[in-house]
This record gives sequence, C-alpha cells and structure tokens, in this order.
Amino acid sequence: MADALHFHSPQLAQMLLLAQQVRAWERVPPAEYQALQQRQLHTLMRHAHQHSPFWRQRLEAAGWSAEVPPHTVLARLPVLTRADLQAHFAQARARWPGLKDEEVATSVTSGSTGEPVRVEKASAMYAPLYAAISWLEAQWHQRDARRKIAVLGTGLTDGTRDSWGDMYTAMGLRGPCVVRNITQHGMESHLDWLLQERPDYLKCSPFAAAELARMALARGVQLPIRQVISQSERVTPAQRALCRQAFGATIVDRYSCEETGWIALQCPTHEHLHLLGSTTLMEIVDEAGRPCPAGTPGRVLVTSLHSFAMPILRYELGDIAEWGAPCGCGMALPVIARMGGRTRHLVQTANGPLPMPFLGDELGRIEPIRAFRMRQYVDGTLQLEIEAPRALTAEEHAAVRAVFAANGMADLPLHVEQLARIDWPVGRKREEFERVDRAYEP
Ligand SMILES: [Zn+2]
Repeated sequence: MADALHFHSPQLAQMLLLAQQVRAWERVPPAEYQALQQRQLHTLMRHAHQHSPFWRQRLEAAGWSAEVPPHTVLARLPVLTRADLQAHFAQARARWPGLKDEEVATSVTSGSTGEPVRVEKASAMYAPLYAAISWLEAQWHQRDARRKIAVLGTGLTDGTRDSWGDMYTAMGLRGPCVVRNITQHGMESHLDWLLQERPDYLKCSPFAAAELARMALARGVQLPIRQVISQSERVTPAQRALCRQAFGATIVDRYSCEETGWIALQCPTHEHLHLLGSTTLMEIVDEAGRPCPAGTPGRVLVTSLHSFAMPILRYELGDIAEWGAPCGCGMALPVIARMGGRTRHLVQTANGPLPMPFLGDELGRIEPIRAFRMRQYVDGTLQLEIEAPRALTAEEHAAVRAVFAANGMADLPLHVEQLARIDWPVGRKREEFERVDRAYEP
C-alpha cells in the first residue's frame, strides 16, 4: 500500500514503531536471535526475582543469579501450570513501585475445567505490542483494510461498523466491518447474509468457514472471498481444501492465547506458523520435559518475554505442537510445522500417545465424513461417531479402519457409529476427542 506522508497520533506512531521492531526479528541470524532472547529473558528474570515472591522462590530454587546464563535457569524451572497461577495469583504478580491499579489489565480464561485463570498485564506495554503484531499480521498477508470484512463469532452484536477497528480508523483505512452473532442464527442464514454482503475477508472459526463452504458448494453459489481469517481453533487440511474450493480463499491461521497474547502467525507463503520470537520464547518438550527435535510432537511451554506485571515463564498451555525445518520464505523465525490440539486430546496407543487432530486430518479426507467425535474409554476402546449425509460404503468403512491401523491402533477395539447429526454440547467449545473415565458399554 503506498504511504502518503502524514502525521500519526502518538499511540499510532508507537504501534508502528513497535511493528517495525518486531519485523526486524524476521531477518536476524540464529546466533543473534538467541542472544537477543537471552538478554530479554535475563531482564524478565531479574525483574521477577526482585518484585514477585513466588518467582523469587522458584528462581532461587533453580539456581538463579546474575552470572548464570538465563537459558540454563529456564531449563531448571518447573513447568508453570494453570493450577500454579490459580493458587499463587497475588504472589506471582511482580508489581513494581509506581505501577498503578488502573495501569494493569486482567485477562481471564475459563478453560475446560471451568476454573478461571487470571493473568495481569501492564497495559502500557501489552496493548501497543498486541496492536503492533495484529498490524504486522495484516501486512504479512497483504490485507487491504479499505475493503469489506465480515466477522462471525460468539458474543457479538449484529451490526455494521465503519472500519476494522480503532487502529485502522486512525490510519484512515475505513473498510466496512459487518458483524453477526454466530449462535443467534442458523448456518444457512449466515450463508444468505454473506451472499448479500459479499465481503472480501471473512473472520470466523475454521470449522464455521468449512461448514459455510460445504453449503455454498451444495447450493452451487459463487462467493469469492480473499481470505478466511481463522479464530479460536486450529485449522485442518480438509477445512483449507473446502474454503479454497468454495470461496477461492486461503485460511490464515493464527496462534494466540489469552494469558500471553500472540504466539505465532501463519507464514506469508506457506501454511505453517512462524513463532514470534521477539515476544515469546517457546519450548516443545516430551513427557519427561526434554526438548523435542523437529518432527516430534510435544507439549508447548511458553515464556512471555514482556510479562513484567505477572511473569509467565515455562507456562504449559496444554497444546501439542511440532517444530518444522527452516522456512523457504526468507524469514528466520522458527517454524511450527503443525499444531496437534490439546494435551488432553492424546489418544493412548500401543506405540505411545498420539495427538488426536493428526488423526482427524486423515479422517477428514474420507469424502462423506463431515464431522466426527471420538471417545476413548479407560479400557482403551475407541468409539467413533461420524456425521455424514449418506451411509458410508464398505470401502469407506475400510478406509476409516485403515486410518486407525496406520496410526498404531489396530489392536484397540473400535466402534463406529454413523449419525445424521452429532449433538455437540451447546455453549461449550466442540471437543472432537474425549477421554471417558469408565469402561466401554455398548
Ligand atoms: Zn515462512
């Protein structure tokens, strides 16, 4: 986009400067990248040690001192859990003298257990950085904020806004933003609405986008969309294929969490994610806490390098991910090859735990399967519910069993049930995999 010469508001100028600094990390050679992260980690640890009783105790137990390399201390720190943050909320804060209550924002996540976790953030630092990375993401994917965007999500009020947000308004970019509450209307109605609005961009969950794509294909309607901007869930290859076919759209994946903000963004030219190393130090570790090499899925631990109000070091998000090989796009930022859902989504097989969504990708390629839900019972038995518009053929049933066999589950009893509609629980996130704490009973 050609930039006219003009003055920006101080907030906007700060955001643009931060975005420029974050961008500089894209080309930093690996050795320098490591050094920069270690310097930032050292600053965070020193601050945490000085201002937080919880972290002072943890860091000292890990042998922290100004002379020990920070990555050595980090590796010795126990994993920070949701339970730790719940139990030690006040002690985990690292409020420095002069920081006022009104300068602190609290993020709350409910999580699957229903037990909320609260994390405090210093607004003056967090808000501009969050905005800068949002802007950076729009740049990576060459989004034109003078065009129309449609947003479908929960908790939204239907309506039309005159820009994509304050940041865009401040820049004079005034593409309309049309918003609809996803749960208050049916999917058919959402498709009618999109056909009427004809947006250039669609922001919604990849599951919803794929449903809409299926409906558009079934109706034979034309609905060209430039990009589907993914929200809240991981993206599967089957969803990407549907959106490409129905809308000619790429799905742009993003990885973030309420506790620390942006973590990784989809590569401008590939489908994998790039870690935002300027703000987040990420580890992928196995069950014993050892680092996983590229290609091996493991548990995600994040250290938020700017979490001064409430330091977040080695926080277990409950996600599974796997490192990839360096990217050919020219960016030096680490590659997250794939995300495998949540740690509670691990299927127990004779060969060890397997992330359920990796299996889902394969099931999604079997033509009539629109959705599925799988349960594993304590005795190992698997129950697979399949939603399909017609009965699966014998070949397709064989293909389902072949997917399980190819993933080391040939020995586990498998019960396949075909349904017209899976009754997902209302008001909760869909869980495609559940572990059931009792033996299977037909
Ligand atoms: Zn790349």
